[in-house]
Amino acid sequence: MLNIALFGPPGAGKGTQSKTLIEKYNLTYIATGDILRQEILDGTPLGMEAKDIIDKGGLASDEIIVQILENRILANPDSNGILFDGFPRTVVQAYILEGLLLKLNTSLMCMLSLEVPEEELIQRMLERGKTSGRADDKEDVIKFRLQEYQDKTFPVAGFYSQKKKFFPINGVGKQEDVLKRLTKAIEKNLENVWLNIVLFGPPGGGKGTQAKKLAEKYNLVYISTGELLRKEIESNTEMGKIAKTFMEKGDIVPDEIAIRLIEGKIKMNPNAKGFIFKGYPSNIVQAYILDGLLQRLGTSVTGMLEITSTTLQSIKRLSARAKTESARVYDLDPEIIIHRLEVYEKKAPKVAEYFQKQNKFSSVSGEGNADEVFQRLSLSVESLMKKIR
Ligand code: AMP
Repeated sequence: MLNIALFGPPGAGKGTQSKTLIEKYNLTYIATGDILRQEILDGTPLGMEAKDIIDKGGLASDEIIVQILENRILANPDSNGILFDGFPRTVVQAYILEGLLLKLNTSLMCMLSLEVPEEELIQRMLERGKTSGRADDKEDVIKFRLQEYQDKTFPVAGFYSQKKKFFPINGVGKQEDVLKRLTKAIEKNLENVWLNIVLFGPPGGGKGTQAKKLAEKYNLVYISTGELLRKEIESNTEMGKIAKTFMEKGDIVPDEIAIRLIEGKIKMNPNAKGFIFKGYPSNIVQAYILDGLLQRLGTSVTGMLEITSTTLQSIKRLSARAKTESARVYDLDPEIIIHRLEVYEKKAPKVAEYFQKQNKFSSVSGEGNADEVFQRLSLSVESLMKKIR
């Protein structure tokens, strides 16, 4: 999800710029001020509770704001992303936003702050007051709102600066010029959003072949836990020695080892456009681990793509591979092949369900030749790209 917070004092032009941005990037618009005004107009209990304080230019309570946000977010479950206008307005609300987005398995991409000198803000709001009908666009209330901004809202900038997510934008000048500055900042941030794909499916389903080709086509870094482990074994490292005993039996290796290898590989590629994971996660524990690991690195799984394959197809492919140079030790014994397929059948449904619940799962038919499967996978990758760009 592409989540942006438009920040800045009242009168900075957040509402005006939002209209174009939500269209351009296909975002759900959440303007807490607009929603509160509508609640007041509709005479809802929430609106009635907030009316007095809003008319005076104060801030509505966090309880009210959380209810508004939850309603809006729940009403748009398949959103491409959210543009927040007028929220977070306090450091407490910044924590609330972090929690809300975490619940949606996403995070804030950036906070763009429209910077306009105070005298101009006052002039703009007085001008707006002639037609807006807003009780808070009057001189004394405007001054109080600006004071509230200085005291309570401005510290939010520090919260996001620390996270390196805060970007000041000059908000003075023609509307289209300000828009250009905002768009430029968004595009720059988008370049840094990773596309993280998990390729899933039974052993012998063609994941390795396809993942490598996809990595090349979309300029992603290929992470195969199996391959990383084989390298450790070849180099006879401590991790390799431990891993070997598990791999020979067709069993999965302890998670401590896989975590270190994956994290190491990601950290070696800080300028990557994203990653394509193969062979991990293979069970529900690893699904949690991967989510935790990526979150620690400030990113997340964009989507899981499953390549479907029948058991017969898998056995045929694995036995065929056994006769080639890329034969793995665990391809040579039919009993081990069956064991691996059984483990997959047992563990896979929970992993799939884990990502389905996050709206991040899709299936691609593994039927036909490798090129046909690749075409289908490419389409799925492109639709995942749209999700983040
Ligand atoms: P705005 O339309 O963003 O200028 O907001 C108008 C008024 O709505 C503010 O002065 C506050 O009284 C109230 N309001 C809007 N957003 C929030 C928020 N996130 N927290 C508390 N009060 C808010």
